[in-house]
Amino acid sequence: MREELTLQSTGKVGKAFGGIALTQCDLFGAIKLKCRPTTHRHRKPTMSSRWSGAAGTPSYICAGETSLCPPPFGLCLDIQPMSPPWEPRFVLATPSALGWAEGVAMVERAAGLGAEVVRLRSDRLAGLPEAYRDAKRTLAVVTASPSRRRLQPIPPSADWRFDLAEGCPAHCTYCYLAGSLAGPPIVRAYANLPEILAELQTAVGHGAVTSASAARAHEGTTFECSCYTDPLALEHLTGHLATCITTFGAWDAAVQLRFTTKFDAVEPLLALPHNRRTRVRFSVNAREAERHEGGAPRMPRRLAALRAMALAGYPVGLTVAPILRFEGWAASYDRLFADVAVSLDGVPDLDLTAELITHRFTPKSKGVLAGWYPGSPLEMDEAARSRKTTKFGSVKYVFPREDMVAMRTAIEGSIARWIPQTKVLYWS
Ligand code: SF4
Repeated sequence: MREELTLQSTGKVGKAFGGIALTQCDLFGAIKLKCRPTTHRHRKPTMSSRWSGAAGTPSYICAGETSLCPPPFGLCLDIQPMSPPWEPRFVLATPSALGWAEGVAMVERAAGLGAEVVRLRSDRLAGLPEAYRDAKRTLAVVTASPSRRRLQPIPPSADWRFDLAEGCPAHCTYCYLAGSLAGPPIVRAYANLPEILAELQTAVGHGAVTSASAARAHEGTTFECSCYTDPLALEHLTGHLATCITTFGAWDAAVQLRFTTKFDAVEPLLALPHNRRTRVRFSVNAREAERHEGGAPRMPRRLAALRAMALAGYPVGLTVAPILRFEGWAASYDRLFADVAVSLDGVPDLDLTAELITHRFTPKSKGVLAGWYPGSPLEMDEAARSRKTTKFGSVKYVFPREDMVAMRTAIEGSIARWIPQTKVLYWS
């Protein structure tokens, strides 16, 4: 395994330090760092302080050809620590969920991480924690009811949506789930995956996005499984993505699985027989957005995971969301796509898409987010937005039209400049 990190730096280049060699990168004046796993373990404090002093806000991109750098590396450097996997504090398991092998396995995995497990006497979830902090540490292992298993159209992302879970352990202050899910923000993971997957069969060949488009028909019937969760954030507990990827890979039909993630623990997925039937899109953003994304891996880690998945032959994508408006946004988004170009440099047979989604909010989501994240610096000022009424009669606030035009022009221009092979699927 080649272990090499590229440190993106705006300042001076470091120098050879102990067991770690730093050299100038050809692109952007960044820094290449050769890691030596046997020697870096005790170098955290000095490396950390030197880097923050010399280079502003450095970050790194793993440029390994076959694998991500091993987990201790990021933690030891303390420059961009890898996100530890989510460890729920409480697990509530329903009797129906424990009737499935998947449910039992989830509970065992969570217990192995130290969670306190409550086996409920009925399928009704009772005693849910109301406090945000406790709710975000709670996993409910449940079954998806027949109505929850019913496929829903999900334009413009995909033909159909199905759900593996609801809720997410991260703490994004703009989280789109705030306007979609009711109740305390616990994670509900579905144990009856075989029943969920059985529903998909009836939809093959139908749909209003890729199935109905001559230009996209080659993608087959598309199924999105990350509308109400970040499935990669839960994969170490559920194993659901691996099952789905393998199922789609072996499916004798024109189908595609799609999911979006902000997480980076892709190693268990790299060697799966995906047959290029799963498109993983990484949710990426300008550096300024990261302060709104508590609990999610930093952008360089996502780009490292993007590269690893692309090298493993997966079709990949960028979900640039939510696109924010702030001082210097154009340059910052331009830098993002430059970083993406570096992270995908040399990937053979690259199949890359982009979905561009601007920030919006509703009265309901603003209220929920204000309760979860009081004092958040996220701009949600109705007076600075355009008010839109959806076809369902609800209200949302988006950027004014002139801002939208300027942002779209600049961002699509940056994509064309840095990663011209990208297929931009939509702007919204
Ligand atoms: Fe919400 Fe996505 Fe952030 Fe999770 S990662 S908190 S689903 S925006």
